[in-house]
Amino acid sequence: MKMPRFIEESRWYDPWKLPEGKSVEFSLMTASEANNKASFPDDGFTIIEDVIHEFHNIGKKPKITVGCIWRGCPFCNKARSYYDNDETYLGNEFYKKTHNIFNALIVKDETGMVESGTVKIIKLDRRIFEKMDTSRIIRLTKVENGYEVNANSKSVKVIKPGNAGNIYDLRPYRTSHDEEQIIDDFEYVMKHI
Ligand SMILES: [Zn+2]
Repeated sequence: MKMPRFIEESRWYDPWKLPEGKSVEFSLMTASEANNKASFPDDGFTIIEDVIHEFHNIGKKPKITVGCIWRGCPFCNKARSYYDNDETYLGNEFYKKTHNIFNALIVKDETGMVESGTVKIIKLDRRIFEKMDTSRIIRLTKVENGYEVNANSKSVKVIKPGNAGNIYDLRPYRTSHDEEQIIDDFEYVMKHI
C-alpha cells in the first residue's frame, strides 16, 4: 500500500503576499529564546544577510535573483564599470542588494493563513529591516509601494525561553552561490538588458 506523501508546509512567510492594507505582527527570535538553542552557539545563523543581484522583467523572465560572490562577481564588476562611465542608472540596476533573513514568531497574521505562535522565516530588504525595533513586536503593513513598519508600543517583546518552539538554521535559505549558474545568469542578463 502506498503511503500518502508528506507535504512539508513552507517555512517561509512572504510579507509581499499580504493584500494592501493588511498587516502581520511578529517578533524576531534569537537562539536564546528557542527550544533548540543548543544548536546555535553564540546566536549564530539566526539572523543572516543575503546579498544578491536582482532583475525584473528581463527577457522572458519576470525575475532573476542571483547570489553575489563578492570578489570576482561579474554583476559587481559590471556595476562598477557603469558607474565609472557615469551610467548611474545601469550601475544601480546591477548593484548588489542586501536582504536580511531571520526567524520570526508570528504573533498575529491578519490574513489568517498562519496560526499565532508559529515560527516562520522572513526575508526583508535591509532598508526595511533597519527600521525595525527588534526589542518589540513589529507590525508590518503592506502599502502601495512597499511596507509600513511600526513597533507595537504596548507590546514589548516577551518570549519565554523554550516557549516558542524551534528556530531554523538560515544558511540553506540564502540565495544559491553556484558559480556556473551565476555566469549563465550573467550572460542571460547581458543579452536582454
Ligand atoms: Zn555581486
